[in-house]
Amino acid sequence: MTTRIGREMPLTVGIDIGGTNIRASVVDGAGEVLDTVQAPTPHAEQALEDGLERAVRELCSRHTIGAVGLAVAGFVDETRSSVRFAPHLPWEDTPVAHRLGERLGLPVILEHDANAAMWAEYRFGAAAGAHNGVLVAIGTGIGAALLVGGELYRGSYGVAPELGHLQVVPHGRACPCGKRGCWERYCSGTALVETAIEMLATDPVRSTILAREVFRDPGSLTGRRVAGAAQDGDPVALRVMADFARWLGLGLAFVSDIFDPDLIVIAGGVSSSAPLFLDDARDHYAASITGARHRPLARIRTTQLGEAAGMIGAAELARAALTPKRAAGAGVATKAGTGRRTNAADRSAKGAKGGGSGASAERAASPDGKAGARR
Ligand SMILES: [Zn+2]
Repeated sequence: MTTRIGREMPLTVGIDIGGTNIRASVVDGAGEVLDTVQAPTPHAEQALEDGLERAVRELCSRHTIGAVGLAVAGFVDETRSSVRFAPHLPWEDTPVAHRLGERLGLPVILEHDANAAMWAEYRFGAAAGAHNGVLVAIGTGIGAALLVGGELYRGSYGVAPELGHLQVVPHGRACPCGKRGCWERYCSGTALVETAIEMLATDPVRSTILAREVFRDPGSLTGRRVAGAAQDGDPVALRVMADFARWLGLGLAFVSDIFDPDLIVIAGGVSSSAPLFLDDARDHYAASITGARHRPLARIRTTQLGEAAGMIGAAELARAALTPKRAAGAGVATKAGTGRRTNAADRSAKGAKGGGSGASAERAASPDGKAGARR
């Protein structure tokens, strides 16, 4: 039986609010999910808060819970207690943490969902041992998080970083944010569809699979289907993936020229198709970053915790808020299950706030099994 430190820490609940479902999980101090409740996401404010309360109460009926962390796909204020704006949620400048805390009689913290995912990967997954890290969650759009000196960087007002809306093409594709040419218009699941439709319009004959699908029902095309067609050898779909890889590499080089990270984690739905684009993206990254031959390049890995990362990270951040002193000198266990103890003293004092996730960067194997762009 594996012994992991963290078991003695209070259990917390992490919540992820998706467009379709609310998922709330009990997570222990080793990042293990012990119990999960799932319910449809109500879209009215009162009903949503009722639903969240119900989910947590159900978990509280089976476990002793110390705090609750909520991963929010939107702008969270710098105190992590209010939602400023979330495009798919009914809250706007709403003190959500206070409201839920009153209902539940428990401390509640909010966190941007990509930040929560980054924190989980840092503590228990693909970013273990990183010092300065970037997480890019690629799905419908791009969600991003920054780890600086072992701490999440939230900016002055809680909204950093919005990497998906960096303009990479002047006068480019229109973005729902109101701008044009945003990175996520070229590097997301949605972008795969858009690029596929553009390429099919100019070169329909060469496509063996995609053209048939689009002919049958143009509205049915998804990023997953494009990736599936590439997997099956469709020449146009392969070109779409190559284009995606180029934009991913270029964008990551852009981000790295600013932040100089040692680790980049690719997460989100599109990361499951990483074998179709990651090596290419690494090549474009190395070719695009400034002075590649004269600097170490960040390792680029795929997520280790997958879709559960946001929930696990929110729960872990809630636990940290509950017991702020526990991090000093405390080791962490990793999802890899070795239970290796690490010592926060290995790391610089300023990086110790969240605990010393000192597992070697060389060690944390990712599903892609690659060492990253450092060559
Ligand atoms: Zn945009």
